[in-house]
Parts: sequence; structure tokens; C-alpha cells
Amino acid sequence: MADISGARILARNLKQQGVDHVFGIVGFPVVPVARAMQSEGINFVGMRNEQSASYAAQAAGYLTGRPQGCLVVSGPGVIHALAGLANAKENLWPMILIGGASPTDQNGMGAFQEEDQVAAVSPWCKYARRVESHDRIPYYVEQAVRTSLFGRPGPVYLDMPADVIDGRVDEAGIGSAPTVGEPPRAHAEPDLVRGAIAVVKEAEKPLVIVGKGMAWSRAEDEVRQFIDRTQVPFLASPMGKGVVPDDHPLSVGAARSHALREADVILLAGARLNWIMHYGQEPRFNPDVKVLQLDSHPEQIGHNVPAEVALVGDGRAVMGQFNAELADDPWQHRADSPWRRSIAEKIAENEDAVAGMQADESAPMNYYRAFRDIAEWLRPDDLIIGEGANTMDIGRTQMPNTNPRHRLDAGSYGTMGIGLGFAIGAAVCNPGRRVVAVQGDSAFGFSGMEMETICRHRLPVVVVILNNNGIGGGLDELPEDGPPPPNMYLPTARYEKIAEAFGAGAYHVEDPAELRAALDAAGKLEGPAIVHVRLDPKAGRKPQAHGWLTR
Ligand code: ADP
Ligand code: MG
Repeated sequence: MADISGARILARNLKQQGVDHVFGIVGFPVVPVARAMQSEGINFVGMRNEQSASYAAQAAGYLTGRPQGCLVVSGPGVIHALAGLANAKENLWPMILIGGASPTDQNGMGAFQEEDQVAAVSPWCKYARRVESHDRIPYYVEQAVRTSLFGRPGPVYLDMPADVIDGRVDEAGIGSAPTVGEPPRAHAEPDLVRGAIAVVKEAEKPLVIVGKGMAWSRAEDEVRQFIDRTQVPFLASPMGKGVVPDDHPLSVGAARSHALREADVILLAGARLNWIMHYGQEPRFNPDVKVLQLDSHPEQIGHNVPAEVALVGDGRAVMGQFNAELADDPWQHRADSPWRRSIAEKIAENEDAVAGMQADESAPMNYYRAFRDIAEWLRPDDLIIGEGANTMDIGRTQMPNTNPRHRLDAGSYGTMGIGLGFAIGAAVCNPGRRVVAVQGDSAFGFSGMEMETICRHRLPVVVVILNNNGIGGGLDELPEDGPPPPNMYLPTARYEKIAEAFGAGAYHVEDPAELRAALDAAGKLEGPAIVHVRLDPKAGRKPQAHGWLTR
């Protein structure tokens, strides 16, 4: 039988395990790995910075439901990718990082880009191993993929020394590993499901919080059925948006603070009571709230707030149990309840509060005016990326999601710089679909050079940059003397020219009256484009009852 390289064995096993997309940057010693991946039918996307590549891999992993890959060179390549590992760990998303490593017979000698990579990645990885020989590659790939996907999803790492990549062995001596199947879906204790339903029925102000655990477990049909069946209002988390459509009459999205503060029973479904949810505590939550906690991960139960009922199991499976239990039960939360009425009133009040800003035609624009046109222009099947401070926060309320897993943002880790990596990951695993990344000028700056990647791969990504001259709003002009303030960027910047440099559509908008036409023109291209929108640097959110960060 023919001989085979370590690179080829690795690529073949990754492909077998469902790793269809790998994002990365080649160089010593991983060039042969990328080539072998292409030969084995893996889509290799060469990127411009390992950070973005690691973001792209995890977005693709979350969206496809299988870990996708990131391939980097030794030393600095692995270190640059750590940002993505940390973000994936915090978001509970699968990904597999593959790092080239210096040759084993030069260990400790001060080899080129030598680093103890397994130790470097280990704080963020569920599994990290050095591949020491060819015959163990199938085993390690299977372990890595399974560990990344099963239980709580997360990042994993494989270290590939140059001699293992390049060395050739007799193919007959290489065994195979079983293909990792779908993750098992555990059910909750049936008594506890019945107990939870009893608590919901007694509630005066019940609320379901739909988190990205439900999006990950593909529980959209079950959650929609539960909400429709029980008529209990729901709040989607930032990336739980779309599991139930935002325009569903029971969405409390536009009355979020009110609903969180008032609810007396919360079914917390695949979401964490972390900083995004204000720890589930006063003053943002009712101190007597009863939390019915549905989570796949037992250690999460009772985190920050004790759980009234612990429903440990897979989101889709347990919501299915709820629906089966309720099949012959006519109970519903009353449409005319004071709770429903108070939510409706608050939604109307909040909609009124932004109506003026949405209608404001002055230039430069405010956020709400910009989002009015963006929201009308978006198609329901667009994948939306939101990134920035105000751009992300206001965009979350102003851009509707109708489909699950159609919105990605800075996430549980609050990472700025994810935008174009996520856009690339989303685009390659959703061929034929449009990706719209709405970013602040600062957010775009973290990874702007990935526009070249987007153009090279002809990805249908429209980047809309809402430019307020900096982080949280800069100045109109550079100061005449003294250094620019730390949060300001060049007020005359024309970021759309970066698209022009790579042959993509480039649009610059100063006057709100011209925004819609620019978006339409970008949309017609079916290819990459940047729409650069000049905002009033002083524009901000509508007045908020609470600061965004709990102190
Ligand atoms: P969000 O940001 O939407 O609140 P988080 O990432 O904070 O979401 O929380 C998601 C929760 O969902 C985590 O606690 C995680 O353990 C849980 N989870 C992940 N996968 C599943 C699943 N298949 N079924 C149920 N819960 C899940
Ligand atoms: Mg900005």
C-alpha cells in the first residue's frame, strides 16, 4: 500500500468527523496541512489574522452544529488564536484549533516559533493534546471532535509537530476511528417537568427567557409550540433572538427591563443569569422570583439565583416533555391578564420614546434613524451580525429576527473584533444566503482587513458601518493641540474605501435621505460591499432606567 503523510491522515479524519470548513493562515509547518485539507474536500479559507480565523471557526461551529476548524502556525499563530478560544469557551460553542508545532527532535532547543502550545491553550480548551505519532491521529481527532460537541460545547486543541505533518508512513498501518454521532439528548425528570408546569400555572407574571442554549439545541419548534400553547410571554436573549420570531405577539423585547423586574416566575431556558441578565438579582429582577431552570449542564443550576425547579436536560428534549405534558391540558395564561396589559402598555410607551428619533431627518444621523432604514431593508433570511457598543445594543432592539441562529454578536464574553470573522464563518456555511454585518467604526477596525478575505472568496457580505468617530462617540474634528482623546478615531475616515480597494461595492452616506438607496444598491450586488454611514458623534441610546453594566 502507498505511503501517506501526517497532514493527509489529519485532513482525512477531520473530514470524516464532519469538519467541512477550516479557517486559518498558512506558513511553516502547516502549508501541507491546508493543501491536504483541500485535497480531501475541506473548504479551507485563508484569512488575514488568526484571531478572526478562530472567530470564523466558532461561528461556523455554532451554525452547523459540528465543530469546524481553525488552522494556525506554531508560536505566534497559536497565541493569536487564543482570543477565539476564550470567546468560544465563554459562548459554549464548539471549535477545533489545530496548531503547527516545531519538530519534536528540536524540543527545548529554542526552535523557530517554539512554544508550549498545549499549556498555552489549556485554560480555554476542554481537550488539548499533542499528536505524537501518525497512528494516533484518528484517535485524537475523534476525541477532540466528540469532546468539543458533547456535554457543554467548547473549544479543543490538537498540536501537530512538523515531523508528524511531513513524515510519511505506510497507509496500511493507520487504523480508523468511529465517526462521532449527534450529541445525546438527555430528558429531565418527568416529575420535575410536571412540578415546573404547576409553578407556571400559579404565576401571576410568568416569563420565559429563551437563551442561545435553545438555539444551539435546535429547540425552535418546541419552544414556539410551548409559547403558543401556554400564551406565556417570552424574552429572547441577544442570540436567543429568532428561536421565536421577534414579531410574535408574546415577545416582551420592547419592554425588557419591565418584564425582568416584574416577573414572579421565570422559565430560564438555555440562558445564564450572568452579566447580560444582571445576575437575576435586584434591582433588575424581583427578589422573590422563582426560577425554573432548564439547562443541559448541572453545574449551571442555581448559579446566582437558587433554582425553584432544576430541569437538567437537552433544551429540545425537555421542551418536548413540556409540550407532551400539556397536550390535553387546556390551561393558558389569560390574554387579558394585568401582566399582559402592563407589558403591552410598556411596549407602546417605549415605541413612542424612539418614534421621534426614528423620524429625525437631520444630518448627521442618529442611530434610530439609521436602523429604521436598515430594518426595512433587511430580508428575513439574512444572517445578522451586530457589533459595537451602541450599534450592537440599539441594533438588537431595532433589527428584527424571524429565524433561529440568524444573529451573532459580541456574546457572553463581550468581545469586540468578532464581526468580520463571524461574517465569514456564517457566509461559508450558508451558501446562497446574505450576511449583513452592522458594526460600529471601532468594531470594524479590529478586523477590517478581512474584507480582502470576503472579496477573495466572493462572499455575499454587506458590512454597514455606523461611524460615530470612535468608541462611544468621538469628536467632530481632531483637537488642534494636544493628543486626540483615547476614545476618538479619525473623523475624516472613509472606511468604505477599503471595499473599493478590493473591488467590492463602496457607499458613503451623510444624509439620511440617501441611506435606503445606498443599502439597496449594496443589496443588488449579491457580493461584498461596505455602506459607510456618518453618524452624529453625540448620538446615543434612548434614556435608560438602568446603566448597561450592573455594578
Ligand atoms: P444567553 O447568552 O443566550 O443567555 P448563555 O450562553 O449565557 O446564553 O447560556 C446558554 C445556556 O444553555 C448554558 O448555561 C448552557 O449550559 C445551556 N445549554 C447549552 N446547550 C444546551 C442544550 N442542548 N440544552 C439545554 N441547555 C443547553
Ligand atoms: Mg464608534
